[in-house]
Parts: sequence; structure tokens; C-alpha cells
Amino acid sequence: MRIDIVTIFPKMFSPVLNESIIRIAQAKGKVKFYLHDLRDYTPDKHRKVDDRVFGGGSGMLMRPEPLFNAVEAILSKTKKNKPKVILLSPQGKKLNQKICKAIAKEKQLVLLCGHYEGVDERIRKNLVDEEISIGDYVLTGGELAAMVLVDSVVRLLPGVLGDKNSLNFESFEGNLLEHPHYTRPANFRNMAVPEVLLSGDHKKIAAWRKEQALKRTKERRPDLLKKAALG
Ligand code: SAM
Repeated sequence: MRIDIVTIFPKMFSPVLNESIIRIAQAKGKVKFYLHDLRDYTPDKHRKVDDRVFGGGSGMLMRPEPLFNAVEAILSKTKKNKPKVILLSPQGKKLNQKICKAIAKEKQLVLLCGHYEGVDERIRKNLVDEEISIGDYVLTGGELAAMVLVDSVVRLLPGVLGDKNSLNFESFEGNLLEHPHYTRPANFRNMAVPEVLLSGDHKKIAAWRKEQALKRTKERRPDLLKKAALG
């Protein structure tokens, strides 16, 4: 997968892209990142990318030209694939595991990070394929949201995680939260690991895990069970 990120803060990304699974994914050749400083695409001699809002009101808005220029420049270099252009936006579809899986099937993403009061409406309407929100709260900019999206998608790319099974049994598979886990010691300060997990009986362990996943989902996310029931 190729991921182009358009931002006024490209430096924010390097600590995240160069650690952990995302770093390994790049080393394995599963993903390649291209960071674009939006200010390189503005016709403004002071490198401004924002302006006042028509009709009045506080705050500044991202102007259309720099973002259009940036996306067009990226598209002109990548004629083979039709990249998916995603605007990070609190008004977008709320990110979930199903959306991450769908995005992980794309060959190329172009992620646009808004700032200030957001972006000119013509960007939303004419430049963007999809708007993604990472939750019902407002961030200062789209950078952290883009990092969340990148992290949740890259780990799903085939061959990125060492153990394929770690994806199959994760939370949100089959609309369930994952069952509880324990590691050594079996008894820590009088807090004992459930007997069944030490029994070596794989059938019993699988049944216990299923039951715990259901119980946990019922307690914490009954909305997921409702979704599962609806099919
Ligand atoms: N005025 C906008 C509104 O009320 O919808 C909020 C703009 S916000 C301060 C600036 C930028 O941060 C947005 O353009 C978007 O790129 C990003 N952003 C903020 N909250 C986000 C969220 N929950 N998910 C994804 N991106 C977000």
C-alpha cells in the first residue's frame, strides 16, 4: 500500500511512522509513506494556506487551491492506481474495524489533514472520496486522526503482523469484544488465573473464552450484540 499524507505539520508523523508495527511494515515493504507539506502547494508567497470565512464568523478556513494542487500533483504521479482520497473530519463516517478492513484493501490512500475551522466546502464536495472521523470530539487538526487511521489499517495488511491468528480473535470480530487474557504468574498477590486456562483442555478453554467474550460485550458494548443480531 502507498499512503500519501497532506498536512501542514509533516514533522508530527515521523515519531509514529518510525516505531513499532508501522516501522516493521515499512521495513517489510508492505507500506510506503509520502508526506507532503501543504505549504509547498500554495500560490501564496507567504506560504499561507488559510483565509477568512465568507459570510463572517470567527476562525480561518483552509483554502481550496493548496489542497487541490497537492492532490492533483499526487494523482499525476500515480496514474496506475486510483487512490482513495480521504479527508479526516469530525463530520465523517465514524471509524470502526469494518471500515478499517475495507480501507486496508485499497492500493493507495491520500489522507488530507484539515486544520483551523476546517476546509472549504468545495474540497469536501469535489476532491474527497470519503470523510472519516475518529470519534465524536473535535481535534485541533487531522494529523492525529490520520495517524489513528494509518495504525489501524496498516496492521491489517497481509503479512504485517507475525501471527495471523492475532487478527482473527481480536475485539470487534463477529461484533464481540475479545475475552480476557492472563499471563504468568498463575497467582499474583492472591489473584489467581481462572483454573480452566491452566487445564490444558482446549475445548473447555475455547468455550470459556466465547462465554467471556459474550459476557464482556453484553456488559460493555450491548450495541455490538444488537448489530450482530441484525446480521
Ligand atoms: N469546525 C469544524 C467542525 O465543527 O466540524 C472542526 C474543525 S477541527 C478544529 C480542524 C480539523 O481537525 C478538521 O478539519 C479535521 O481535519 C480534524 N479533526 C477534528 N476532529 C476530528 C475527528 N474527530 N476526526 C477526524 N478529524 C478530525
